[in-house]
Amino acid sequence: MKKYLNKVRRKIADISYKCIGIISSDKKLVTFTFDDVPKSAFENGGGILKKHNLSGTFYIAFSLMENANSEGLFTSRNIEDCFKSGNELACHTFSHFHFFKTKSGKFISNDLAKNNSEFKKMNLDTTLHNFSYPFGEQTRLAKKYVLKQYTTCRGVDPGVNVGKVDFHNLKTIQLYESKNSLQKIDKILSDFKNKGGWLIFYTHDVQDVYSAHGCSPAYFEAVVGKVIKADFEIKNVSQVTDILEIRKNMLH
Ligand SMILES: [Zn+2]
Repeated sequence: MKKYLNKVRRKIADISYKCIGIISSDKKLVTFTFDDVPKSAFENGGGILKKHNLSGTFYIAFSLMENANSEGLFTSRNIEDCFKSGNELACHTFSHFHFFKTKSGKFISNDLAKNNSEFKKMNLDTTLHNFSYPFGEQTRLAKKYVLKQYTTCRGVDPGVNVGKVDFHNLKTIQLYESKNSLQKIDKILSDFKNKGGWLIFYTHDVQDVYSAHGCSPAYFEAVVGKVIKADFEIKNVSQVTDILEIRKNMLH
């Protein structure tokens, strides 16, 4: 029953507060993104991107940062280094809450404001322009609030963004090594070569002993190598929105 309700919630979110744009199949854009973000993604994932002079998008939930009372997933140093290496920092809410369990718009806007204010404390010369839904949970209410602040929102629905695209529900491909083998990635990339559009990869940890939601550095580097070899254009989310001329609150 709960699963069914969540499916309905997603469906309603799907048809609400859209930001529709067209991405032509002539485009061959690829983006590497990370959610939460674990230290190993900053250090190993970010390190691999840096080695190839590439920029990714890191969707950060500041409640997951290390502080005096808790170990956390990442440090302020990770964020600084990531930004100084030319990557994009983006929002993944503050408390990484479940939108499916949230009925209060005020709670959502306070949580997003908290993430922004924590980010401002870092004194980096940038703002968070893009967003990804924790657990991929989209609701009508979530979309209503996030679209006011962010140019794009990435969900977890699998696929490539091509043709008519909702920029508040961008599709993505998991770089989960235990789920998407390199052979599967080859197949995805070869389909992408024909169909084009914007292919967004996402993962969490990038370490030798990877979680069900992550991958090893060797796997990540292999995927980056395949994308470079295929000569696709590799950009972070913000750079893609510039290329596609997508603006916040463009079309609803
Ligand atoms: Zn997350």
